[in-house]
Amino acid sequence: MSDFVIPTPPVASIPVAGGGAFPVRRVYCIGRNYAAHAVEMGHDPDRESPFFFQKNPDNLDSSGSFPYPDQSDDVHHEIELLVALKSGGTNIKVEDALDHVWGYAPALDMTRRDLQGVAKKMGRPWEIGKAFERSAPVGPLQSVADVGHLDTGRVALKINGEVRQEGDMNQMIWKVPEMISYLSDFFELAAGDVIMSGTPSGVGPVARGDEMLVSIAGLNDLSVKVV
Ligand code: MN
Repeated sequence: MSDFVIPTPPVASIPVAGGGAFPVRRVYCIGRNYAAHAVEMGHDPDRESPFFFQKNPDNLDSSGSFPYPDQSDDVHHEIELLVALKSGGTNIKVEDALDHVWGYAPALDMTRRDLQGVAKKMGRPWEIGKAFERSAPVGPLQSVADVGHLDTGRVALKINGEVRQEGDMNQMIWKVPEMISYLSDFFELAAGDVIMSGTPSGVGPVARGDEMLVSIAGLNDLSVKVV
């Protein structure tokens, strides 16, 4: 018995390859973390301070389908490596940061680009373009014990068999340990937090019926159908 006055909401989670599930507390996303993508979005790729936004834990979706959302006519794909933390803290040093990583997963930061564009123009927050229902398709997590740490290797998104986005994890402006360290200066990180590590160039629109195939070197592929 509990003192909750309504039924408790389900715990958001990501399935783990081979069985089990990883419970999610928070979802941090880094913006413009590959130089070529910063340039295609009209920004200077200089190494300025990173910036972050958040999605909601229950935006993560591992169903294999992505329902085209309402209120938008321009929904973009962004392929991203997702990093899952097994522990956290504040003021984590870069050299200690990887000790907090439980595993990695292929993911998509689906974006209502038209609504994000309006928000940017008006100086408003991005949630309406970024943190909508099922906006973060994600594949099963694979543990560090199984796949090690990922810092180099091809990242590619195919749509209906055609390569649309391509890059290498070694092109990240802010590396995974640096992102964890930076975030921990501003937030108290904890077990269950996940970080979406940014997207390479080639973002573009999807349409109902599209088959998205997320390939990240070292991980199993993730296939997602736009419905
Ligand atoms: Mn993104």
